[in-house]
This record gives sequence, C-alpha cells and structure tokens, in this order.
Amino acid sequence: MKFLKTTLFASALIFSYVTSAAGKIYEGYYVHDKNFLQQVSNDPDLVVDHVTMDGFELWGPNGLGAWLKRVNVPVDKLNAVVSRSRQGYLSPEEIGKELQAIAAAHPQLAKLFSVGKSSLGRDLWVMKISKNVSVDDQRPEFKYIANMHGDEIVGRELMVELIKDLLDNYGKDSQITSLVDHTQIYIMPSMNPDGAAAGTRYSGENIDLNRNFPDWTTSDNQNVPEGRGVETQAVMKWQKTRHFVLSANFHGGAEVVNYPWDALEEVHPLDALVKSLSLSYAKLVPYIFRSTAFENGMTNGWAWYQVNGGMQDWSWYYHRDLQLTIELSNQKWPNYSTVSGYYKSNRPALLDFISQAQKMNQNLQ
Ligand SMILES: [Zn+2]
Repeated sequence: MKFLKTTLFASALIFSYVTSAAGKIYEGYYVHDKNFLQQVSNDPDLVVDHVTMDGFELWGPNGLGAWLKRVNVPVDKLNAVVSRSRQGYLSPEEIGKELQAIAAAHPQLAKLFSVGKSSLGRDLWVMKISKNVSVDDQRPEFKYIANMHGDEIVGRELMVELIKDLLDNYGKDSQITSLVDHTQIYIMPSMNPDGAAAGTRYSGENIDLNRNFPDWTTSDNQNVPEGRGVETQAVMKWQKTRHFVLSANFHGGAEVVNYPWDALEEVHPLDALVKSLSLSYAKLVPYIFRSTAFENGMTNGWAWYQVNGGMQDWSWYYHRDLQLTIELSNQKWPNYSTVSGYYKSNRPALLDFISQAQKMNQNLQ
C-alpha cells in the first residue's frame, strides 16, 4: 500500500518520514474504525496489532499521526511507553542474575547461555532444562520464547516461573519429571530486554521484532539474518544450530491461542494438528477457553489479521518447527500481583504443550 508514502510525499512531512528508516516504528495509534484496516494492512511500513470489533492498534513511522488526522480517521494516540507499575517486576539485569543463580543451583538439569546481545548490549538469555543437560542427544527439542514485544510482560514472568517450577519439582512431580527426562526444553524469557526495560513494544533499534523475520510470501524471503534487528538475527542463528520440533511464543494485549498461517489465507499443511494443539492449550486455560472474543479461545492468524514477517510462520516454513503464538493477557503490563494467577491458570497448558513435543516426530513423518 503506497498510499501513505504518496500522501506524505506531497506533504511537509516528507523529511520526518524519510529520516525514519524503513520498517522502524516511532508512533502508535488506536484506530476506532475497523473498516480502515483494509487500507493499511498491506503497507510494509505499518504494523497492525490486536484487532477487535472496535478497532485496532496501528504503529508506524514519524508522520503517521499527521496522515491519520488528514484522512480523518478517529484515533487515540498510544503512548510509546506502556503505562505500567514496575513494582514487583525485576529489571532485565536482575532477571539475568536470578537465572544465573537458578542454573548454578541445578547443574545437572539446567544450563544458562546467551544467544547474543540486544542492540543496547543486554544478554538474550536462554535456559536449557533437561536430564543430563550438558549432553545434546536425540530427545525432542522444544522451545518457548516470550517478550519479543517489550511491553508485553506477562510471558516473561511466566517463563521465569516455569523454569523454577520445572527445576524445583523435578523428582517430585511425575509430569514434570517425565518432561525433563524425555525432552530438551529451551526457554527464552525475553527476546527484547531493551523494550522490557523501557516499557516499549519495539527493540532498542525501534524495530517490531514480530514483523522482522523472513517471510516467503513477500520479497523479503531469503532466510538470512543480515539486515535485521540484532535480536532477530540472534534467534535466527540460534535456531539454525538446533532441531526444534515444537515451540510457542508469548504475547499480551489479547487472550487467545493464535495458529498459523499469519501471512496468508491458505490452510496450513498440518491444519488438523495445528488446531488440535491450539485447542488443547486453550482448553486447559479457563479464562482463554471462555473467551467471548474468540470461539474456544483460539484463532487462525490470518483470519484475525494478517501479519507479515512474524516469527510463527517463519519457524515452520524455514525450519519445520511448529509454532503457536499465545496471547496471555488483555492488559499488556498488568499489576504484578496478578502474575501468579496467570501462572496458575496457564501452568497445566504450559506443561501439556511441552509434552506434545514427544508426538511431533510421528506427526512429521
Ligand atoms: Zn505482541
């Protein structure tokens, strides 16, 4: 959609627009007109998120707000920094220290490593949890990634809780013991620590990381890290070294399990499996399953709204690592006192989803 560029080109805003490098995000609006979606959904410089009956989030370069005003669409400005209470939430650095202490206390079961640095120099921590953790073997490899949007914080907290739960209850809880014995579990609590520290959606380079992956349906279809955000590059390079069969990535701003594809209407080759995995997760989380916005708390990505450059589609298309996108909370950054409730509600589904990795080898044959 070149309308925006053309419109801005004819305006005094051309300077600010041109100085925003392509794909970088500086302004966000809530658009109170769902019909406007079709005008903006294919513009590679704009990001649409969290569509509801009432409207949707729209993020883009400098000049976006002025353009929306000129085309007379009703909007509210979204703050670049999410309204949030830090009380109870740790900083990325404090979480890093906590993860180091947890790994040190469980040397047989846990190994912490960094897959790279964020643009502002923060480590991108991954905890591997498995029996005989230092050995790479034939057991299925599974991963969770959270917090690629920095202001969607609940996933990060749930991942730290899950890490503690798996390690503290190994040998005590039979379900957990079985998971850790039979699976190589990798957990990345935060893919965007710079965004989390600042309370913003984007990376430190103003990149929306979930629109930054190779996408076979667009011209950006080469599976090469170069030219992307450093966090995207780090995940891509890490993925290449592993053989993940199943994964999920966590978001906030809605409560729903979102399954591929995001980028096109076509049915996924493993559609029945994808739907059954989504239903299994949703069913185990009462507040998601009872959603009034989504039937059974699940949705096909494209049917909800089109996403290009997302991690979910990339994961399957380029690596045969089946991924779901799980939206955990309507409020992106809720009061910290609610986090334990989210963990309690999602725990059965988080554990069950890991166990599905065992079935993936059969499913993929
Ligand atoms: Zn998100």
